[in-house]
Amino acid sequence: MPKKCVLILLDGLGDRAQADLDHRTPLQAADTPCLDKLAAMGSTGLYHAGKIGRPLPSENAHFALFGFPENEFPGRGPLEGLGADVPLGDNDVAMLAHFASVLRTLDDELILRYDRVCGTPEEIDALYAAMAGFELDGVRVDLHRTGGMFSVLTLRGDVSPHITDSNPMVDGRPLSAIEPMSGHVDDPATVRTARVLTEYLRQAHLRLAGAEVNGIRARQKLPSINGLVTQRAGRLCPCTPMAARYGLRGLSVASGVMYRGMARFLGMDFHRMKDSSDPGRDLARRIDFASTALDWYDFIHVHTKAPDQAAHTKRPGAKVKAIESLDKGLAEAIDPLLRNDDVLVVVTADHSTPSGGTLIHSGEPVPLLFNGPGVRRDGVDRFDEIGVACGALGSMRGDELMHMILNYTDRARLGGIRDTPVTRAHWPGDYRPFTVTDREER
Ligand SMILES: [Zn+2]
Repeated sequence: MPKKCVLILLDGLGDRAQADLDHRTPLQAADTPCLDKLAAMGSTGLYHAGKIGRPLPSENAHFALFGFPENEFPGRGPLEGLGADVPLGDNDVAMLAHFASVLRTLDDELILRYDRVCGTPEEIDALYAAMAGFELDGVRVDLHRTGGMFSVLTLRGDVSPHITDSNPMVDGRPLSAIEPMSGHVDDPATVRTARVLTEYLRQAHLRLAGAEVNGIRARQKLPSINGLVTQRAGRLCPCTPMAARYGLRGLSVASGVMYRGMARFLGMDFHRMKDSSDPGRDLARRIDFASTALDWYDFIHVHTKAPDQAAHTKRPGAKVKAIESLDKGLAEAIDPLLRNDDVLVVVTADHSTPSGGTLIHSGEPVPLLFNGPGVRRDGVDRFDEIGVACGALGSMRGDELMHMILNYTDRARLGGIRDTPVTRAHWPGDYRPFTVTDREER
């Protein structure tokens, strides 16, 4: 029976029927002999990390599929901050922030003109220089550069993460006002945070609009980079790490900063492998690395962002190509895992990313397969959203994925067993041995 699990996570793999692809999903349209072989040799089904129909971002979906409860989720901002080595105190609030191009209307609204805008490294340096230190009402605000236009914004002081975003995410929409979230409108720290951040973003617009770099861009007829937009504020919070929660030594192999932060937060190790222009080759190298790391880890997350990125271009054909490249990468590297009777291979995605329409992510479930000794074999031999719907795993949700991984690696605790004071999902737990002494217990 398998003792360890390699979870191959094809980010944003799920999709919708696309007219450009004869009303098939990109995964249906793609030629994927290796994924189909894995499906034919194992169990398949559909998976959703949250509730069916509810689109999730990668961070929430990963948190759930790693088996962690929503109330221990710290927010995207702190995860990104941890991943980028941004210094974060326990009470600091962190959020995503990036430079954008905005238009000021006659009503003094700011319209998001371009959420993504390009600048030279020298221009970006000048933008950050314009955003040097800010303090108001005892709250210090710092912009920590994480890559290009992107950064993590931190607020330090008596602050709260319960505030709204300013980034509407869609070009042409007005930026949203920073407001306390419902349930926090009378909380002084939340009200202060909203006020300080509003003033900071107001000043950011004025400083950036007046920066010399934008004068030069105007003469070159380039859009002004005159806004800073924010979203997904959060704060670090206590979290039971993976080893204690599931008895697993975990490793994540990925390229993104957020995955490094999430691994740190969940007590997993992290190995960064950069993306190249060949996603299949990248995936093969990551699986190769996972194969060599199995002596030290029980659970290895191997991640590729390629299907999600291709879907965000809203070109279904680009997603088909990305999937076919990943299948070739899988075929190149998967055999050592399949030959190893100690290994359970799981392939799935964190969410669906539709390569058509206007949604960023969508709420349909994603395909899932389990492959390894002992795994039931169903009759499904096509790994796509429709084929796996007939599979033996049925429709799985949230932390059920991690429970099934514990199950197929013979780690799942029989309900009712009490070897540890805190009931966990894994067995045997990290229990205290029973000892005897020559003295009578009193
Ligand atoms: Zn994702």
